[in-house]
Amino acid sequence: MDRSWIYKSLPFDPVYIAGVDQFMQHVRSRFRADDKIKCPCRQCLNRKEKSQADVEEDIYINGFCRWYTSWIHHGEVDGEIQDENEQPPLMKIFYGMKMTSYMMKMSSPPFMMKD
Ligand SMILES: [Zn+2]
Repeated sequence: MDRSWIYKSLPFDPVYIAGVDQFMQHVRSRFRADDKIKCPCRQCLNRKEKSQADVEEDIYINGFCRWYTSWIHHGEVDGEIQDENEQPPLMKIFYGMKMTSYMMKMSSPPFMMKD
């Protein structure tokens, strides 16, 4: 799911409006219509709870909080949207380095390892 609209688009840009729609659909799939939700607009920053209609309006007018790409305050598990292409494979590099130093140790000639 592409969420680059959150930090790339400006309010009232068609891409942004489609993005807000995507967010509201996400909210509707996880909350009841009369549930109040945290508002992720740039003024409330998830610190205020509002009705869904108010939140939608806030996001349109104030913009969507730029770092809020993983919707953990709206029922999304952290990391749910991450995929291989977006994430630098840090763990792979880390394991690769460990493996290399391990292999270097193993391949040292026996005469280097005398005690
Ligand atoms: Zn707000």
